[in-house]
Amino acid sequence: MTNKKTFIFDFLITQNCNYRCPYCSQSKKFHKGIFEQASIETINSVLNFIDKNSNKFNFEITVSGGEPLVHPEFFNFLMELKKRNAAVSIVSNFSFEIEKYIKIKDILGENFKELLVSLHLSQVKSLDEFLKKAEIFNSYKGGTNFLAASVLTDENVSELKKVASFLKEKNIKFELQHLRIKNKFVEYSDIAKEFISNFPISKIKEKSGTYSKICLAGVNFMIIYQNGECYRCYSSRFNKVHSLGNIKSKNFKLYSKPLPCLNKNCTCPKPILFNMIDYSSKAPVKALLLSLYNAFFIPLFIVKNFDSLKEKFIQGKNLKNK
Ligand code: SF4
Ligand code: SF4
Repeated sequence: MTNKKTFIFDFLITQNCNYRCPYCSQSKKFHKGIFEQASIETINSVLNFIDKNSNKFNFEITVSGGEPLVHPEFFNFLMELKKRNAAVSIVSNFSFEIEKYIKIKDILGENFKELLVSLHLSQVKSLDEFLKKAEIFNSYKGGTNFLAASVLTDENVSELKKVASFLKEKNIKFELQHLRIKNKFVEYSDIAKEFISNFPISKIKEKSGTYSKICLAGVNFMIIYQNGECYRCYSSRFNKVHSLGNIKSKNFKLYSKPLPCLNKNCTCPKPILFNMIDYSSKAPVKALLLSLYNAFFIPLFIVKNFDSLKEKFIQGKNLKNK
């Protein structure tokens, strides 16, 4: 069928990770061993969702985490996605042996849309090994988009300069990411600024003034957390209206039509990239009513997310003090 729409979703298959980056909001959880990962039941529900909607949609799925490769069902899940002809992107810290990444390519073949590998300098045992693996995968990737990225800090400028020049020489795409603390982009030192002036930095895409604008997130896009909870987008976790229910339960439901955004700013890269926000059209009255409805549920969401809010606060404070 040629007239099928594309449905895009991110599946955060696990909170667990083999790294402990200081700026990771999850790190305390898995350090304490209280992380969650998708159960077989959740994975099967995700696959059922694809099956039920395969006559309507083509699927584009990003599998991330935590670190998705630590999930024991990771490769089996990819095999199932390949059977369903879904386009798949993976976000990984690239810490595993190169054979595992080659295996992903062998399983998914031309369905492997993108491998985004993040370089966490505080965690890598050998930078040379990371770069060597990047070189090997880049020569094996076929049609897969291969991209390395790293968060720039004032401390890692000189190392990242070397990384950037090596990857450029090998024709491998590399992106610097702007460090954010408490949702704000940090101000860099002059040395870092000079580096950025020669090497454009990617800020997470952000759009302001989105409140009440009509958005397709929830119709053509969603995120699925490891416990099966589904949300319209990343900015909507404290939003009763924008929760789509749990993929394992009967209460899960996509929107039948686009609704107004209830956030002042949008920091969700995919809805921005895929033009899901209609800037010309807004519904202020409906947005106000939905916001009032949401306000009623805020205490409940604070209680439900108390631990992660506390961790984010402590992490932000620690990073600011560095
Ligand atoms: S690699 Fe990613 S998930 Fe793992 S600790 Fe670092 S930031 Fe967190
Ligand atoms: S505009 Fe952005 S924040 Fe608002 S609903 Fe759409 S994706 Fe979410």
